[in-house]
Amino acid sequence: MDVPLGYDLLVDPDLPPTLPRTTVDLPAGAPVTTAAGALEQFLRQTTGPAEVVIAVEGQPVGATSRAFIAAEFPTATRALGDGDRAAQPGQSTAYRLIRFECGSCDRAVYRVFYDERTNPVCEEAGHGRMRLAP
Ligand SMILES: [Zn+2]
Repeated sequence: MDVPLGYDLLVDPDLPPTLPRTTVDLPAGAPVTTAAGALEQFLRQTTGPAEVVIAVEGQPVGATSRAFIAAEFPTATRALGDGDRAAQPGQSTAYRLIRFECGSCDRAVYRVFYDERTNPVCEEAGHGRMRLAP
């Protein structure tokens, strides 16, 4: 699994080595701008964890944080933070996030695509595939 160019720029070097329990999983070949947009949307929209694992096809690349993305990608933050423009059709669909949940623990995975054949699998042994969140 080759990590697309530039993903190292998204990783917050100050986070502890223990990975967060929530993941943003990107498809192979997704450009770093897609990854940054998905992360920004996740960190802006959810009231959940401020730290998240970045993964490509389920393989963790590293972890990042709300503060780090806001500091490193201020342009993306401003564009997505503009409530009126962000709400217009066609503007936000590129990074629409789909949430998957484990049925047995609190782990969650967000993706920018949906393919029912490849729902993410929980990292905890025996928990199996995650389900699409209601
Ligand atoms: Zn689980």
